[in-house]
Amino acid sequence: MGRLVLVTGGNRGIGHAIALAFAQAGDTVAVACRSGEAPADLAGLGAFGVRCDVTDSASVDAAFDAAEQQAGEAVDVAVANAGVTRDTLLLRMSDADIDAVIDTNLVGALRVTRRAAKSMLRRRRGRIVLVSSVVGLLGSAGQANYAASKSGLVGLARSTARELGSRGITVNVVAPGFVDTEMTQVLSEEQRKAIVAQVPLGRYADVAEVAGVVRFLASDEAAYITGAVIPVDGGLGMGH
Ligand code: NDP
Repeated sequence: MGRLVLVTGGNRGIGHAIALAFAQAGDTVAVACRSGEAPADLAGLGAFGVRCDVTDSASVDAAFDAAEQQAGEAVDVAVANAGVTRDTLLLRMSDADIDAVIDTNLVGALRVTRRAAKSMLRRRRGRIVLVSSVVGLLGSAGQANYAASKSGLVGLARSTARELGSRGITVNVVAPGFVDTEMTQVLSEEQRKAIVAQVPLGRYADVAEVAGVVRFLASDEAAYITGAVIPVDGGLGMGH
């Protein structure tokens, strides 16, 4: 039976691939994004858009309310995927660079987890997946704000996994390595070559490879996995 799955930033990049993987498997997907519009390929599979800015608690709560109203059921699976970068060396990093990244990537995921838990606690079941990054575990020069936001997701997941576990709710983290999306298109050819040289599998990830792991964590087969950090990084982090 299909479930209601809400994916933040499901309109493009990794989030779009995650939304597609669930929709293709027969779930009803709410694409929670700033435009409020589901892309045509997702809409063709029964997905719908809800307006959501993860930097605003009221907007996150309203997105869940709208999704649940439209689908006529509560959210079973929530994926906190929305994220931004404002890369620069620490001494050049402005307060705006820090605030935007922490508020979107970390506090945004906290807002999504809090609202998702509200629906899931009542039903005593649910799956929450947070999209982190290998950078949160290894660190990265020029990305102190981003790495801090992404490692914060591990503490968030592990604390809420403890808090919600007795109610049948799992909370897990997926930590992708380098994935071909608009986020990484800003890198120069030289930077891309240097990154790939450090990846044992010798390439970037495809968005579908990240989506498949997110979907697995929301499946029955993953019922006994919670508080885990699953790398999808071609070996870059070697399990960290
Ligand atoms: P993209 O830049 O392609 O997409 C980012 C998504 O986040 C967009 O859908 C964007 O929406 C959304 N978003 C940003 N800010 C907000 C906000 N305030 N409210 C709602 N939605 C927002 O990035 P990716 O697909 O590459 O990244 C997706 C996730 O994966 C991010 O969390 C990223 O940190 C993580 N990641 C990416 C890696 C990579 O190599 N690409 C590696 C590891 C992790 P909009 O269209 O409105 O801007």
